[in-house]
Amino acid sequence: MKAAVVGNPIAHSLSPLIHGAWLKAGALDGTYERVLIPLGAFPAEIHRLQAQGLSGVNVTLPFKEEALALADEPSPRAVLAGAANLLVFGADGRICADNTDGEGMLGAVAAQAPGFDLTAAPVLMFGAGGAARGAAAALVAAGAPSVVIVNRTLARAEAIAAELGPKVRAFSLGEAAALISDAGLIVNATSAGLAGQPGFDFPLDRAPRAAVAMDMVYKPLITPFLAQAADLGLRTVDGLEMLIRQAVPSFAAFFGQAPDLSVDVRGLCLAALEPAS
Ligand code: NAP
Repeated sequence: MKAAVVGNPIAHSLSPLIHGAWLKAGALDGTYERVLIPLGAFPAEIHRLQAQGLSGVNVTLPFKEEALALADEPSPRAVLAGAANLLVFGADGRICADNTDGEGMLGAVAAQAPGFDLTAAPVLMFGAGGAARGAAAALVAAGAPSVVIVNRTLARAEAIAAELGPKVRAFSLGEAAALISDAGLIVNATSAGLAGQPGFDFPLDRAPRAAVAMDMVYKPLITPFLAQAADLGLRTVDGLEMLIRQAVPSFAAFFGQAPDLSVDVRGLCLAALEPAS
C-alpha cells in the first residue's frame, strides 16, 4: 500500500510525518511519500503515480483545482469546494476526488473547543479561496445558522454565497467590524502571512467572549489572530489540529482502516515545526 502527498513546493509538508506515524502505530505495510510535481505537469505526474500502483494521493497547493478537474468521480463536497485535496485511484483506473478540509475544520473545532454549539450563532469567516469555500459548505451542512464570508475581493465571497445558498452571505473587509459582535465562530481562512508577509489580524474586541476563534494557518502555530483572541479570553482552535483531522479520512481511503488517534501526531508535528535551537 503506497500513497503520497503532491504539491509544489512540497518539502515543508507535514503529511508524511502524520501518515507515517499512523502506519507505524497500525503495524501496516505501507509507505507515504512526498512528491514534487513541476508546474504544468500535474495530469501526467498523477497518471505516472497511478501506474506505479499507488492507492492515491493527497494534493496541496497549487494543484487542488486541477485535481478536481482530473477526477472521473468527484464527491459532492469536492464539487462544492471547487477543489480536491484527496485523489483515490480505483482498481478500474478511475480517479475519485474528495475534499476533506471542511471535515478537518469541524473536527478541529470539536477537539479544541469541546461543547461549542455550531448551531447557536453565525459563523464569520475571513477569506474566499478554496479552503473557505470547502469550510463554508461543511459549516452549512453541519447546521450553522448562517455563514458570513468576508473577503478582500468581495466578488469572490459573493460567488461562494451565490453557489451555497441563502445561509451564506458575502461582505467586504470594511463591513466586518459591524458583523463580529454576532459571531459564534470566527475563522481566518485567508492565506495572508505566507512568504514572510505579516499574518492576518482583525480587531476582535467586539467579539462575544463566548466566541471561538480559529486560524487555518499553522505556521506559526499561534498566529497574530489567535494571539489576540487568546488575550481577549476567547477559546482558540489552530490550523495544525485541522491539518491532522483532514488527514484522517485520507488515511482510511489509502490504507483501508482508520488511524489510531491515540498516537501523538500533534506532538511530532510541533517538534517538526519548532525544532530545538
Ligand atoms: P487561496 O485559494 O489562495 O485563497 C486565499 C484567500 O486569502 C483569498 O480569499 C485571498 O483574498 C485572501 N488573502 C490573501 N492575502 C490576503 C491579505 N493580505 N489580506 C486579506 N486577505 C488575503 O488559499 P486557500 O487554499 O483557500 O488557503 C487559505 C489558507 O488556509 C492558507 O493559509 C492555507 O495554508 C490554509 N489551509 C490550511 C489547511 C489546514 O489543514 N490547516 C487546509 C487548507 C488550507 P482575495 O480573494 O482578495 O485574493
